[in-house]
Amino acid sequence: MESLHQPQMSEAVSAQESAFRYTEPAPHDEVMMEQLEYLLLHSRSGRHKWCAECTRLEKISRHLLAPFC
Ligand SMILES: [Zn+2]
Repeated sequence: MESLHQPQMSEAVSAQESAFRYTEPAPHDEVMMEQLEYLLLHSRSGRHKWCAECTRLEKISRHLLAPFC
């Protein structure tokens, strides 16, 4: 019985996929730091009347600081 799939092909593809995953640099902490930096710079850029970005920063700060309170 002949298989429809070529085993060698699928192995090559999965090897390529995992190689791609390993080279893809998307660590959560890096993204988090970028977001925090952006929001902090935004909030320091002047007086805001509770805009969406400031509200996000306020929410995040509350969660981040909760274990220390
Ligand atoms: Zn703002």
